[in-house]
Amino acid sequence: MKPLAQDEIRRAFVNMSKSRSRALSVPVLDGVDWEDRDFYAWTDGRDLSRAYLVAQRPDGPVGVELRATRRTADFRRKSICGLCYTSHPVGGTALFSALKGGREGRLGNSVGLYACRNLACSAYARKKIAAPMGQMDETLDLDERIARVVQGLEAFVSRILH
Ligand SMILES: [Zn+2]
Repeated sequence: MKPLAQDEIRRAFVNMSKSRSRALSVPVLDGVDWEDRDFYAWTDGRDLSRAYLVAQRPDGPVGVELRATRRTADFRRKSICGLCYTSHPVGGTALFSALKGGREGRLGNSVGLYACRNLACSAYARKKIAAPMGQMDETLDLDERIARVVQGLEAFVSRILH
């Protein structure tokens, strides 16, 4: 993705009030490997249930605030990320929910996505970090794995925006 500055990230949020996004603490971005990422995400150091994700879209970056929850029903099951399709043992994925943008969000409507709890999907797709339960036997090559993350992300972000 294209490199972003802290201010661009703060301005990109679509499901958070302007006053909150202006005050948002964005990580220091020096040394971020932008070209190897399909999105930039981080979790709040003080509140691990809060995460932030910024995706690049044709008309500019879009940021979404996420709440991570773990459902007890999934407690004993392994789970698969909906973006990079990495399999995780218990606790390795989380259900991320995002308030929708605009009026829908003010009414409390949200959308959800099961994804890697550490949001390291870009690195898993590029095999830069090892999959926790071993690599799936799949036929997709690198470009196809990246395209799958990008498509999944685009679908999630569109559901937030529309
Ligand atoms: Zn993932």
